[in-house]
Formats: sequence, C-alpha cells, structure tokens
Amino acid sequence: MENCIFCKILAGEIPSSKVYEDEAMLAFRDINPQAAVHVLVVPKSHFATLAEMDEAQAELVKQCFVKIPAIAASLGLENGYRLIVNQGEDAGQTVHHLHIHILGGQAMGEKML
Ligand code: AMP
Repeated sequence: MENCIFCKILAGEIPSSKVYEDEAMLAFRDINPQAAVHVLVVPKSHFATLAEMDEAQAELVKQCFVKIPAIAASLGLENGYRLIVNQGEDAGQTVHHLHIHILGGQAMGEKML
C-alpha cells in the first residue's frame, strides 16, 4: 500500500530491527519504545482495523496470535507481557496497518487496564 510505513518496512524499503519473520508476519522493535521491551507484530497484508479485515487477513492475524508466545519467550518475557491493538482515532492509532504491540520487560502497572 502506497504511503504505508509498515508496508514499506515489509517490503524492505525502510529498515527495521527485526525479531521474527515468517510468511504471515514480521515482528520488529518499536522505534519509540513505551516499555523496556516493545515489539510490533505486523501481518503481511495491508488493512487498518479489524472492521476492514477479510477472511484471508483474519487467518494472518490468527497466525500472529499463535506465534506471539514464542516471540515473547524469545524476548525474555517469561514473566508476562501486554498486548495492545489500537483501533482508530480515539485509540490513538497512528499507523493505519493493523499491528499488535507487545509490551513487557517490566511491571506494567494498572493504569492502562
Ligand atoms: P499505533 O499508535 O498503535 O498506530 O502504533 C504505531 C507504532 O509504530 C508507534 O508505537 C510508533 O512508535 C511505531 N513506529 C512508527 N514508525 C516506525 C518505524 N519506522 N519503525 C518502528 N516502529 C515505528
């Protein structure tokens, strides 16, 4: 998708700090980390929100969630982690390509959930 920064990362046009990749997803470190460990898991298909997702894209998202425990373990998050999937303006979504935030490496506190 033109002008989508995550599509450009998926295409290798913009560098990223990759932590995992397969046919369904790319996981890389967030450029502006909000926790000691902050990784984004990005399905390899462009759509902004769950409301826009088709069946094939839903399969990619399923594969992301299936793989996240192994990604988290590889990041040393045995003590737990938080997943966030921002949806739209009120949630503060800034990149309109669906992505799952993995946050951890510290006690997260109770302020956001
Ligand atoms: P959201 O607010 O849920 O749309 O999250 C978008 C996230 O993408 C933010 O946490 C940004 O810091 C992150 N981000 C934006 N550009 C890049 C980039 N080039 N590499 C890594 N993370 C990025």
